[in-house]
Amino acid sequence: MERAVAAYDPDNIFARILRDEIPSDRVYEDDEFVAFRDIAPSAPTHVLVIPRGEAPTGPQAFTTEDEAMLGRMTVTATRIARELGLEEGGYRLVLNNGADAGQTVFHVHMHILGGAPLGPVASTA
Ligand code: AMP
Repeated sequence: MERAVAAYDPDNIFARILRDEIPSDRVYEDDEFVAFRDIAPSAPTHVLVIPRGEAPTGPQAFTTEDEAMLGRMTVTATRIARELGLEEGGYRLVLNNGADAGQTVFHVHMHILGGAPLGPVASTA
């Protein structure tokens, strides 16, 4: 059965970053992914990895067709974390999905968080 998933907004903030309509502090890019520092960091190092193009809005929109891209995005995030010096101390990779997770941007993105001991994986507000 088809699930109802909100349509991709081509003017979401990450689409605009990809089109260089608004600035970003990029730390990595290749043909498929761009990574840049989060504007409101939740850890000493907080980077977002996003796919180029019209990406899934988030986990809510994933299908089996996204499996390979998601694998590459995860491996790319680990490579970026290593390049940012996070491997020794450790780091966290996060995908937020929907309201309870506080998702605000509906272009899939993986958070890389590290640089200091992080708090619990989740706490209620
Ligand atoms: P999420 O809550 O998972 O949707 O994460 C969206 C993230 O995007 C938040 O951590 C925001 O601080 C971050 N963000 C929003 N606008 C920008 C921007 N212009 N540049 C960099 N990060 C941004």
